[in-house]
Amino acid sequence: MRQLKEETIRTIINKLGEDAVFKDEPMAKHTSMEVGGPAAFLFQPSSEDDLLFLMKVLGEEKFPYYIKGNGSNLIFQDEGFDGAVIEIRRMQNVTITDDVVCAEAGILLKDLSALIEEASLTGFEYASGIPGSLGGAVCMNAGAYDGEMKDIIRSVRVMNREGEILEKSCEEMAFSYRKSLCSSGDYIVLSAVLQLAKGNQEDISAKIADLTARREEKQPLEYPSCGSVFKRPEGYFAGKLISDAGLKGYRIGGAQVSEKHAGFIINTGGAKAQDVLDLIAYVQKEVQEKFGVSLECEVKIL
Ligand SMILES: Cc1cc2nc3c(=O)[nH]c(=O)nc-3n(C[C@H](O)[C@H](O)[C@H](O)COP(=O)(O)OP(=O)(O)OC[C@H]3O[C@@H](n4cnc5c(N)ncnc54)[C@H](O)[C@@H]3O)c2cc1C
Repeated sequence: MRQLKEETIRTIINKLGEDAVFKDEPMAKHTSMEVGGPAAFLFQPSSEDDLLFLMKVLGEEKFPYYIKGNGSNLIFQDEGFDGAVIEIRRMQNVTITDDVVCAEAGILLKDLSALIEEASLTGFEYASGIPGSLGGAVCMNAGAYDGEMKDIIRSVRVMNREGEILEKSCEEMAFSYRKSLCSSGDYIVLSAVLQLAKGNQEDISAKIADLTARREEKQPLEYPSCGSVFKRPEGYFAGKLISDAGLKGYRIGGAQVSEKHAGFIINTGGAKAQDVLDLIAYVQKEVQEKFGVSLECEVKIL
């Protein structure tokens, strides 16, 4: 594994705090699939200033880095990540003014949803059950049921690899299906401004409860997973194709195609990242052979 100079590590600890710097950190502990080997370093910046500092010192040592949020759409391989993972989870400030919400990238959608519900604003209910951070959701243009991030984003504050901070409008974010300007890894989401609408709190709460119940009924939430593994192929549903291919319950090592929702691969306990990757490849091959449909991964594999 690559190493940073001792002196660099000391300056990072001085800036971020000892509890925000991890060495040889198993990524299985930081991803919802609960697989993956160690990253050489994992850093948890608490502010834009911390991030700027990290960009500078890592840049000086030409040390590769990867930005992660809550790790609910990521698979790190068993060999781990030979670089620094920058986990944007501690930046969580939120301000709500009338029907406009400004939130930092590290807040979890469920926590942001609770604040928005409390403020009686509508338009964010669809996101309440997506287990990601706001930054990850913006990057992925996360969506469910009747909404997508692009429907409510007014602007996004981003940092590029040179450490410049820029404001991007919704149009400039180039949102498309599970994709955005940030998908290339060239921009870090710092915060986002969301345009919502005044609503009735009882209706908002009822909608969130309904969507939660639908998730609990259809998704294997009792197991570690990364949600829907594949993007929706045009004209089809990935879960139905996988189910029709007879793959529900199919297992490689500790990874299994969920019996409850064939679009999910679950970790039944002790799965290796390689089990999950082999199962993904097997499902893709079977669906291609049986139906001539190519399944593209939604989950990011490092
Ligand atoms: C049970 C379950 C259900 C799910 N349901 C849904 C669903 O209904 N709809 C849906 O869209 N997704 C769903 N997902 C997938 C996942 O929750 C979303 O893609 C979520 O938006 C990922 O956010 P994250 O913070 O976990 O991102 P991560 O998994 O940490 O990262 C995902 C991508 O975003 C990038 N990224 C993360 N943070 C930032 C940042 N601050 N700046 C720039 N790039 C960043 C990463 O580099 C990576 O490319 C589900 C997952 C699970 C486990």
